[in-house]
Parts: sequence; structure tokens; C-alpha cells
Amino acid sequence: MENKNLLLKYKKSSNKILVGIDIGGTLAKIAIVNHKNENKIEKLFESYSYIHKIETGDYILHLLFFPTSDFENEGIIFLKKINEIYEIKQIQATGGGAHKYEQIIKKFLKVEFIKHDELISLVNGYIFINDYGFIYKIQNFNERIEVPSSDLEYPHITVNIGSGVSILKVSSPSTKDIQRVGGTIMGGGTLIGLSKLLFGNDDYNEIINLAQKGNYHNIDLCNEDLYGKISKKNSSQPEIPISSFGKVYNYVSDKKKSYEKEDIAVSLLNMICLHITQIASLAAKKYNINNIYFYGNFTRASFAISLLNKATLTWNKNLKVRFNILDGFLGSIGTLVEKKNN
Ligand code: ADP
Repeated sequence: MENKNLLLKYKKSSNKILVGIDIGGTLAKIAIVNHKNENKIEKLFESYSYIHKIETGDYILHLLFFPTSDFENEGIIFLKKINEIYEIKQIQATGGGAHKYEQIIKKFLKVEFIKHDELISLVNGYIFINDYGFIYKIQNFNERIEVPSSDLEYPHITVNIGSGVSILKVSSPSTKDIQRVGGTIMGGGTLIGLSKLLFGNDDYNEIINLAQKGNYHNIDLCNEDLYGKISKKNSSQPEIPISSFGKVYNYVSDKKKSYEKEDIAVSLLNMICLHITQIASLAAKKYNINNIYFYGNFTRASFAISLLNKATLTWNKNLKVRFNILDGFLGSIGTLVEKKNN
């Protein structure tokens, strides 16, 4: 990995490895950089199903996550195993868990624990990784098209969809130009929480798979339910339901006794995507910005990404919408980046 910033921190630290963690409300993301010749550590990684292994030059960046609820066991055991191979001198940490788990990590690992601001880490992470690509757009609902690094333009709106949602205005890479301008409590945690309550499933991937097979017209109150058959001219417009879940209890529809979990899942996902993207597009409008970039582990599944992309363009078809292959890992990567011009 030929990036000066990362090399700087790597060399300065005199460590064999760099460890950055971002412990959020749902997932604890871990980024590890090691020299490609460190065979022992590579063997350890083989026993974990990690999400990304990025090899560039002499360095390898490994990215993996654990459920935050398991972090005290699985996550710390993993870090201890690494520590047994190469002494971890420092851990760079961000996210709420960087505060909550600080003492326990220090107790088990005897490391220097350096805390970083969560949103600054996110921005540093994606600016750094952008030099290597990973940025893409969506075409024809679900086609991923890689775009050049130059597509990261300033100013832009960043939407980080984790358990909850943060919306940032980023006017330049400088820390002083990164501002949280909004957010919403309705995010990835809401999808999982409500899915568990409504149809007993709390597995993100399974929920998305169900949603893909569902039809929101069976749950949401849509235009045609009120207006009858919609004219050809109007039906070409992107559809926003009049009321999410509005058909479940509404006099205009046939009262059903039960609903398919696939239909509930897609209504829920659609509702969350429309809600987040409406707030994001209003933020873009307020600051006269055209570029919106999505991050966070909610943006892992292709179907969720397709809905987010479609929903954003429904609010404003002129917006430029981009996603990142490393979705939820940018904050953990950002803790490892040596920032020069703060
Ligand atoms: P946080 O920092 O709040 O933990 P993340 O960016 O890690 O946020 O995103 C968490 C969200 O990602 C979850 O609420 C869920 O919607 C989604 N998600 C994607 N993959 C998974 C997974 N394997 N387990 C749990 N949630 C997942």
C-alpha cells in the first residue's frame, strides 16, 4: 500500500502491525495493517471469516467485524491472539465503544489506547481509501459501476447509516470543514429491531433476502389505493407510498388477517430508505450541494443500496449518488491514517 500517510504511521509506530477499531452500537469493526511477510499473523486470519483483504505493495489491510454484543469475548480474544504473535503497542479506537470498552481492553491487552473522533475518523478513512478506488455508482437499479477517485468532490454530503444515521457536510478534507448537519434515529438498528418485533427475524442478511421477494403494495397505502388506476402519465413517476404500513389498517383496502413477512420486510426497508434519503436530500438542498456519499454497514447489501439510490433520486434526480465497497469500515481505517493538515 503505497500511501504516504499510512506508511508514516506504520513506520513511526515501530509496530509490526497497526490496529484500528470502531465499536458501534451493532458491530465492532477492526482494521489491521501488517507487512505482507508477517506469515504468522496471516495464518491467524485464515481461521476467521474476514470481510476484506486488500493487498497493495508491501502491506495488507485486513477488515473484519464482530457483533458488538460479542466484542468482550470474541473480539478481545481475537485481539489477544494477535497480541501473542506481535505485541500490539497501540490501539486506535473510535465509536461509542471506544469509551465503553477502554478499560477492559487496557486490562486484557496492556496497550496504549488512543481515542479518535468518530466522524473525523470516518471522513479520514474514506478520503484515504479513495486514492485506491472502491467508489461506485448504481445504474439500472442494481448494476454497480466503479467510478474514478476524482468522483469524490467537495463540498459533499456524507450519509453514514449504521444503527442510527449521521449526515455530514464536508467542504474540504480539513477537519474544520467537517460538520454534522443532521441525522435520524431511524437507521439500520431500526430495520433489525422492527423486523424482530414484526416477523421475528433479526438477521440483516435474511431480512434483506426476504425484502427482495416482497411487495410493498400489500402493506403500504399507495396512490392507486386512493385514486384508483393511475393514468399512464402519472405511473411513470417514481412511486412514494402515501403511507408506509397504511394499508394494514385502512378502510380503502380489503382487510387481510395476516401479512407475509417478505411484504413487511420490503415495506420496512423502503420506509427507512425513503426517510433517510429525504433528510439527506434536504440537507443537500439547504447547502446547495449535489454530491451524496453513503457509508455504514446498512449499505452492505445490494438490495438496500439499490433502494437507497432509487429513493435519493426520487427526491432529486439531479443528485450524484455514490457508495463505497468498504461500506462500514471507513471509520476503523480512518483511525490508522496519519492526518497532516488539521
Ligand atoms: P454501528 O457503528 O452503529 O454498529 P454499522 O455501520 O456497523 O453501525 O452498521 C450497523 C447496521 O448494519 C445494522 O444496524 C444493520 O442494519 C447492518 N448490518 C449489515 N450487516 C450486518 C450484520 N452482519 N450484522 C448486523 N447488522 C448488520
